[in-house]
Amino acid sequence: MCTETENSSEAAAFYVRNYRLRFTFKQADVSKQPKRILRGPEPRRCRFCGRGAPEVTFRDVAHAVPELIGNRRLISEYECDTCNRFFGSGIENHFGNWSKPLRLLGGRRGKNGIPTLKGSGPSGWRIERTGNRFEIIAGANEEDRPFTASEDHRVINLALTRDPYEPVAVLKTFVKMALSVMPDDEFANFGETRDWLMDAGTGGQLIQAPCAEWLVATSTPADSFTLHLLTRRPDAPDRVPYAFLMLSCGIQRFQVNIPCPAHDDLVAAEAPIRLLAFPWPDATEDVLHAAEMDLSGTELVTGETISVTYRFETVEVRENGQNP
Ligand SMILES: [Zn+2]
Repeated sequence: MCTETENSSEAAAFYVRNYRLRFTFKQADVSKQPKRILRGPEPRRCRFCGRGAPEVTFRDVAHAVPELIGNRRLISEYECDTCNRFFGSGIENHFGNWSKPLRLLGGRRGKNGIPTLKGSGPSGWRIERTGNRFEIIAGANEEDRPFTASEDHRVINLALTRDPYEPVAVLKTFVKMALSVMPDDEFANFGETRDWLMDAGTGGQLIQAPCAEWLVATSTPADSFTLHLLTRRPDAPDRVPYAFLMLSCGIQRFQVNIPCPAHDDLVAAEAPIRLLAFPWPDATEDVLHAAEMDLSGTELVTGETISVTYRFETVEVRENGQNP
């Protein structure tokens, strides 16, 4: 995929002629915004395991997008408690580990607040974020710091390590978001994708088109996010994959292909597909990083670091991390 952002009007035209918007949601201001509750047909039946009461219960609040990226307002009624726990104790843990450093940098507030990163020992380094303010405590051990600062402390290079994660579990978390938000008639196209999602094993990969991620310098406001689900128009003139999930949260923008074996026969063909990157309106400037994202791996990834350079407008320096 081409991930440059220069040709945003060409990219916009590409998406308009090939895709339909099947779902869109923006959480902008949690204090004023009512919950959006996604409902399915009655009687209630779980979209993921296909079971209904009394076989399964629907007592817990099922977040259509994980709470850890800040979702408070997008809820689904067709996810049973069993499946909710299956996702929460499985793939979403991997997603949490994978996304933690950038959730910290983007100020994403999960159930337990904004994540903190810290080194080992009581006098180790520590990075915290409150609102728009970063607190970086260097710690006593100079050898063990995941950051370097310019002399005036305005430019900080961070090399943050992700907790161990399985890439395909992260991909499945994105797929689960897409399957959660799509309307019933669209969900009918994704039976094989649902089976793959629910298979706790790592085999049976679905063929996937490229995914992309961007890091931008300016974070979306705390706790806000935007999500779009696009599926191919019946009259799409270009040879393109069937479905994409677009997610904007914090300093991250994602474009994730949602595999759909029922409609993706063209993707499997040999000729390469030409895709344009989604023209995020707020990612046309200050892009720190733009790249294809490969989440196909099934082995646990440990010790992966991501490097980000920050330029701060205001910096306060305290001696040795002591509190005033
Ligand atoms: Zn279920």
